[in-house]
Amino acid sequence: MKMSALFAPTLKETPQEAEVVSHSLMLRAGLIRQLSSGIYSFLPLGLRVLNKIIEIVREEMNRAGGQELLLPALHPGELWKETGRWDIYGPELIRFKDRRNRDFCLGPTHEEVITDLVRREVRSYKQLPLMLYQIQTKFRDEIRPRFGVMRSREFLMKDLYSFDVDYEGLKKSYEKMYHAYCRVFERCGLDFIAVEAESGVIGGDVSHEFLILADSGEEKVVVCPSCGLGSTEEREKCARCGTPLEEKRGIEVGHIFQLGTKYSEPMKAYFVDRDGKEKPIIMGCYGIGIGRTMAAAIEAHHDEQGIKWPYSIAPYQVIVIPVNASNEEQMQEAQRIYEELLNQGFEVLLDDRDVSAGVKFNEADLLGFPVQVIVGTKFLKTGKIEVKFRMTGDREELSAQEIVNLVH
Ligand code: ATP
Ligand code: MG
Ligand code: MG
Ligand code: MG
Repeated sequence: MKMSALFAPTLKETPQEAEVVSHSLMLRAGLIRQLSSGIYSFLPLGLRVLNKIIEIVREEMNRAGGQELLLPALHPGELWKETGRWDIYGPELIRFKDRRNRDFCLGPTHEEVITDLVRREVRSYKQLPLMLYQIQTKFRDEIRPRFGVMRSREFLMKDLYSFDVDYEGLKKSYEKMYHAYCRVFERCGLDFIAVEAESGVIGGDVSHEFLILADSGEEKVVVCPSCGLGSTEEREKCARCGTPLEEKRGIEVGHIFQLGTKYSEPMKAYFVDRDGKEKPIIMGCYGIGIGRTMAAAIEAHHDEQGIKWPYSIAPYQVIVIPVNASNEEQMQEAQRIYEELLNQGFEVLLDDRDVSAGVKFNEADLLGFPVQVIVGTKFLKTGKIEVKFRMTGDREELSAQEIVNLVH
């Protein structure tokens, strides 16, 4: 992709509405734009990051035995009345009537819809266990939409639901998901902690939240500085090693729940067990906020100049910057490296714009590509090209071949 053709409208100034750095940088780097309060468009660079995160999540869900499906976003009110959540959920649930005056809502989460599907199709223990998931748009009329896509009213979530014959099965499914979540956040280049949590309006007994530690986080957590154990409860000493705990703030990026029969019982999602008896299916549910994970990655990885994308979720891995666009030799060499990297399957941008070197460097730092390949006058003298690594700020001088090998 050529920078001259890229649709990434950048902003020089910090936007006034942005209270946290990730929101500001997502606007400044041209990743998102607001349509209305808590409702955002993802522009090409933003969508590339979302898709990277989605692919990591999808791979890990599949690896753990999940099967992807796609449920409707539009839900008949009757289903929500069956579980009582039509009344409990409150004004966060976006409700309306269809032309026949029937109650509908936009799904903020999908326990009712998936339980309805499974109760119709699963009759016997032989069809269990199951892990079904989707990556889909959720709607929540948040009382205070803020921090950009971190707390928005329309957002992408991965939600997986597990269905087991007993609590032992549920524990196994839960363990699998717990580990899959650890892998997802590790692969996204994020330091996370998992803490036991309240299950809130989703319900159930056991639940864990996955948090990214950041000062802007809305959740209070206490963390053991010695063994890393985290908790949302106010205790003063670490339950594991007795060290005094430190208070921190975290961003909730994922949440997993052991639901038990909370939905299967009222919705009569029963199966016939080995012993011929009818029993409720034992359920779990597991969510990851895709957009929120993207914002949290920026909270965790940025500096004064802009974003520092982890390699695994960067919109492009490399940007090739000819320092002087009107110098033909520089442009030719930059073009050559760009094409070579493209041929090797990398995601590369070529900054072919006729703007000052300063503008190019500043924007490359703002947009946060992990590797900047700078083709300048030095190259013409020594054949060496400067490479800057955005995450560490390290610079190296390498030959074109070394660069191609290195990015591998
Ligand atoms: P919060 O406590 O921040 O309101 P939640 O506990 O209501 O989140 P869950 O119902 O557990 O959220 O949903 C699973 C995941 O979906 C969350 O861990 C988070 O990553 C994401 N998520 C929830 N609400 C939003 C939102 N308004 N905007 C973006 N992502 C969200
Ligand atoms: Mg909430
Ligand atoms: Mg929460
Ligand atoms: Mg939660």
